[in-house]
Amino acid sequence: MIIKAADNHAYCVHCFAERFNHKCAGCHEILIDTCLLALDKHWHPCCFICNCCRRPLPNGEYYLVDDKLYNLDCH
Ligand SMILES: [Zn+2]
Ligand SMILES: [Zn+2]
Repeated sequence: MIIKAADNHAYCVHCFAERFNHKCAGCHEILIDTCLLALDKHWHPCCFICNCCRRPLPNGEYYLVDDKLYNLDCH
């Protein structure tokens, strides 16, 4: 287990993430590895999906309706 130091305290990766990492705007779980920045929010790549067909959204191509994400086909 890797220890990271912050604020002069040592944390394991999980506790470090819990304290300092962003939460996913889709599932509200903590983001540990890859995250995607869109709409000023952070997302798991697998959570940044069309609200209708649940398919991943291609880069930069999404539509926002009532705060929900849709792709070109479903919006
Ligand atoms: Zn997520
Ligand atoms: Zn869709």
